[in-house]
Amino acid sequence: MKLAGRIAIITGGGSGIGHEAAKLFAAEGAVVIVADRDGAAAERVAAEIKSSSGKASAHTIDVSKEAEIKAMIDRVVADHGRLDILVNNAGFGFAGTVVTTSEADWDALMAVNVKGVFFGCKYAIPVMEKQGGGVIVNTASAVANVGITDRAAYVASKGAVAALTRAMAIDHVAAKIRINCVAPGTIESPYFAKILSGPDGAELRRGLEQRQAMERLGQPVEIARAMLFLASDESSFCTGTTLVADGGWTAR
Ligand code: ADP
Repeated sequence: MKLAGRIAIITGGGSGIGHEAAKLFAAEGAVVIVADRDGAAAERVAAEIKSSSGKASAHTIDVSKEAEIKAMIDRVVADHGRLDILVNNAGFGFAGTVVTTSEADWDALMAVNVKGVFFGCKYAIPVMEKQGGGVIVNTASAVANVGITDRAAYVASKGAVAALTRAMAIDHVAAKIRINCVAPGTIESPYFAKILSGPDGAELRRGLEQRQAMERLGQPVEIARAMLFLASDESSFCTGTTLVADGGWTAR
């Protein structure tokens, strides 16, 4: 098992990519703290893991709230004595150009997608430093590397996640903390599944599929596997990197 006995927090673990990562990490022997704003979803995922003999607990948290992040990490250290892996995966997006995006919407998105990563790392890194090392995996996006239309705030937030990942990786390399991010293409998560089941769904799906060289959407588990690589010792020489898993979208 690749993560035997490791203590891992996965934010946004209640749905989509985070849900698959929580299951996969537990199957590889990790003790998983499923952290999500949707507490019921986090409980469901933790119960699902426990029903297949994995180790998991649920934690309700809004990653944009500094006090909540600090309390969660304190609690994990109190319960388990350490924190080996933090996956900063909670996030969301909405449509809009800079002209149509309100300041309130911009701030709300940055508070989760960027500040949530900042807070997670701010409180996890000192713990990892003290215990002699650790691993952080952040969820960026293929749009950290290429622009897309009508998603200005989301694109900016994911560019910031990739840049922050590089900055933190070099700041904390001497403390033996590896910090990397994944850059998923368009993934068939519950969020997209809902949009794609709407009235213009079929046409929208074709457009999104054709954007990626493989001409299909990715599955959440395909990103979870990339996260597992970055969270495990198999990526021992990787830090500050962006692992692209986008069906060839940005290659084209
Ligand atoms: P994807 O897996 O593609 O990122 P989802 O929308 O399926 O998309 O999953 C994102 C998860 O992140 C959801 O479970 C959602 O509740 C969670 N989430 C969103 N915002 C926050 C937040 N501020 N704090 C904690 N979890 C959040």
